Amino acid sequence: MSVQNLVLLGATGSIGASTLSVVREHPDRFRIVGLAAHSRVEEFCAIAREFPKARLALYDQPAAQRAALDLGRPVLSGMEGLLELVADLEATTLVNGLVGSIGCLPTIEAIRRGLRVCLANKETLVMAGELINRLLDEHPNSCLVPIDSEHSALHQCLGGTPTTEVESLILTASGGPFRDLPASEFAHITVERALKHPTWTMGPKITIDSSTLFNKGLEVIEAHHLFRVGYDRIQVLVHPGSHVHSLVQFQDGALVAQLGTPDMRLPILYSLVAPQRVALSGDRLDLAKLGSLHFQSPDHERFPALGLAFAAGRQGGAAPAVLNAANEAAVALFLDRQIPYMGIIRLVERCLAEQSFGWRPDLEELLAADSWARRRVLELAHSEAGFVS
Ligand code: MG
Repeated sequence: MSVQNLVLLGATGSIGASTLSVVREHPDRFRIVGLAAHSRVEEFCAIAREFPKARLALYDQPAAQRAALDLGRPVLSGMEGLLELVADLEATTLVNGLVGSIGCLPTIEAIRRGLRVCLANKETLVMAGELINRLLDEHPNSCLVPIDSEHSALHQCLGGTPTTEVESLILTASGGPFRDLPASEFAHITVERALKHPTWTMGPKITIDSSTLFNKGLEVIEAHHLFRVGYDRIQVLVHPGSHVHSLVQFQDGALVAQLGTPDMRLPILYSLVAPQRVALSGDRLDLAKLGSLHFQSPDHERFPALGLAFAAGRQGGAAPAVLNAANEAAVALFLDRQIPYMGIIRLVERCLAEQSFGWRPDLEELLAADSWARRRVLELAHSEAGFVS
């Protein structure tokens, strides 16, 4: 068994915490050679002390300076800092747990260097999926393995079966906290209410995305690129309990599902060792105790984000990048209490309708589409009546 040298980006987030827990359980398999986070100095320093040999980076420069003083060790900063960790000659594996489109460039760098990329940062694939797939084709010694629980489930269900034998990929969705909320009440949703996810404990951005179903929309685009399956063969199924993490319908009628407790350590461990299985402590799903499983169709009228994501995915080009960036900017405004809940979807809709980027964008154009959408969201939010709360 060879030791995997991990660079962990997003060390202070929930994916970071679960990854470190997996590493602690298997110190003989995994070694941390690089640690990076966005800006949370105290949490970052505590982790850095546990791994005295790891190289360090914080995206935020003032935060990096403070951490360096605190630790008495060099702490790199900015995008260059993250990329330098990925470029470390010792690194074999990147665990990308960054939030948002800043995760894109480190993924690209890791593929170019032939690393195994364990990807929790779905924005990378949403924004630049076509480009990432072209890069993967050019660098066959690299591989991209999903951490996102639904995609890990699909990966596990497929078990190497070619996707030509697949009828459809079925992504499950918890439905979020507003699954049964009447349409008339959506206008009064507060930040506090939106931050209460029924099953998973995650960061604020993804929790809001789960409540709007934007998260599922982004996951549809993510699945399209990861498994190279057309949008007409991807479905969303609401499953409030989140016990079934996703399913594959094969062309012979067999339906294969992956079930488990809502513990991100499993998809993280599987992404690191797949197609192998390695022991992991923790609770097991007790089906007898559970008794039954419930499913329902998604309501596209109350959750238009889903249809918007399918449309942007089908349109391709820069549309998914615009969808992603506009949503990210709008969610930040909502969390900052500058726009109402329904403003998120309206801002994303507007940006998608207005964008006119080329249909086969390179990375530069995708990044331009990303920053255009962010700027446009701010302009619209502050200039147009109806967006300001
Ligand atoms: Mg997910």
